Amino acid sequence: MASAMFRYDEAMADLVLSACRERLSVDPVPLDFGGLAPSLGAELSGLIGCEGNDAAEVLRLFVERLATAVVSCDSPRFLSFIPAAPTKASLLFDMFVSCSSLNGTSWLEAAGVVVAENQALGVLAKQAGFPEGAGGCFVAGGSAGNLSALMVARDTAALRRGGVAPLRPLVAVSADAHSSVGKALHVLGVGMLTVPVVEHRLTGRALEGVLRDDPRRDDVIGVVATAGTTNAGIVDDLAGVADVAADRGLWFHIDAAYGGAAALFAPSAQEAFVGFERADSFIVDPHKWLFAPFDCAALLYRRPNLAKAVHTQDAQYLEVLHENPGEWNPSDYAFHLTRRARGLPLWFSLAVNGLDAYRDAVEAGLEVARRASERITSAHHVELVRPPGLSIVLLRRPGWTKPDYDTWSSRLLHDQIGFVTPTTWEGETVARFAFLHPDTTIEMVDEILASMAGA
Ligand SMILES: *Cc1c(COP(=O)(O)O)cnc(C)c1O
Repeated sequence: MASAMFRYDEAMADLVLSACRERLSVDPVPLDFGGLAPSLGAELSGLIGCEGNDAAEVLRLFVERLATAVVSCDSPRFLSFIPAAPTKASLLFDMFVSCSSLNGTSWLEAAGVVVAENQALGVLAKQAGFPEGAGGCFVAGGSAGNLSALMVARDTAALRRGGVAPLRPLVAVSADAHSSVGKALHVLGVGMLTVPVVEHRLTGRALEGVLRDDPRRDDVIGVVATAGTTNAGIVDDLAGVADVAADRGLWFHIDAAYGGAAALFAPSAQEAFVGFERADSFIVDPHKWLFAPFDCAALLYRRPNLAKAVHTQDAQYLEVLHENPGEWNPSDYAFHLTRRARGLPLWFSLAVNGLDAYRDAVEAGLEVARRASERITSAHHVELVRPPGLSIVLLRRPGWTKPDYDTWSSRLLHDQIGFVTPTTWEGETVARFAFLHPDTTIEMVDEILASMAGA
C-alpha cells in the first residue's frame, strides 16, 4: 500500500489553502524584515528527522517565524532592486499549476499547456511588433533567457557570415548591460567587447565606431542592447543599434527583462523603444513588471527555427519528441529540458484581466515615477540625480555619504515606511526608487522623502 503521504488529506488541504487565502487577502502587504532574527537557524534545529511532524506545526513555524523574516517584495512600499506585484489571478493559477503537476517540456506530454503558453508568448511578440511566426518559451529568469539567446547568437554566426565563424567570437555590449549578460558570455566562452558610451546609453554611432576602429572588430558576432537598465531605467538607441546589426550581420539581442513591460504595454513610453521590433531575440521578465509570480521570463525569437536548431537536445529517449515537425516543444528553445509550465500564471491572468488592465498597471508605475520626480525637484532637501528612466528614479540628499544612506535605509525598513536601498551612480552613493506596484502612492513617496529631511 502506498504511504500516507500520497493520499489526499482533507485537513492538510484546508490548512494550507486557508493559509493561502489569508496571504492573498492581506492588503496592503506589510514590508516585514529581512534576516534580522538571529535565531532563524535555531528555529529549524532538529525539524527534519526519521519521523515526520504535524503539518499544522510546521506550517505555523513557517508562517510565523520564517515568512516574517523575508522582506515582502510585493509590498507597495518595496522600492528596492526590482519589486514584484503579482496579480491575484496569476498567484491562484500558479497554485493550480502546482497541484496539477503540469509539465511544460514537450508537445507530446503537454500540448494543452504548450498552446496556452504560446498564446501568451504570441501576445508578447505581437505587442513588441515582432512578425507572425515569432516564438520561444518561458524560462526561469532573464539570466537564463539571455544565456539561451546568446547561445543561438554564437552558434548561428557562421550562417550569418557565409560559413565561417570566428575562433574567438565577441559580443558587443555597453558597460551598463546587466551583469547576467557578462555571465552568460563567460559561460558560453564568448568574449565581451565593451562599447564606450556617453550618458550610459549604447548608440548605433558608438557601436559603429568600435566596429570601425577596434582591432578585434571582425570577431564581433552579435550585440546586446538594454531596453531599461536595472539601475537607472535607461533604454539604449535600439533603432541605431538595429541599423548597425543589420549592416554587419550581427545577432541583435535586447535585454528587456525589466523595461520590456513598458515597451510592450505603455503607450506613453513608446518613443524610447523605436527599433525594438527589429531584434533577433528579446527577453522580458513577467515576474518583474508584468505582474506574474516568480519565476518567469519570456524569451522570444524572430526566427525560432534558428533557436531550435541550436537548442534541441539529442538523446535517444527524446527522439520521439521530434518526429512531428509541426509540434512545438518548449525544450527546443532554451538550454533547459524539463520545465515547470511557468508561463501559465501569466496566461491565465492575461486572459482574465485583458490587455487594457496591463496597460493601465504599467502606466501607473510610470506615472508615480513622474510624480515622485516632481516632488523631488520641488523639495529643498533632496535633488534628482537624472530625469526618471522609465519607472526608476535616482535622487541624492546633498551632504550625505554612504554611511548616511545606509543608516537611513535601515531605519526606513525598521519603521516599515519603505524598503529603499542605496545604489551607486557615477561613483556616488545615491538613493534609488524602483516603482512598479500599482498600489504605491505618492503619499508613500512623500513619507519616504520626509524621512530624509533630518541631519
Ligand atoms: C533583472 C534583470 C536581469 C536578470 O533577470 P533575472 O530574472 O533576475 O534572471 C537581466 N537584465 C536586466 C536588464 C534585468 O533587469
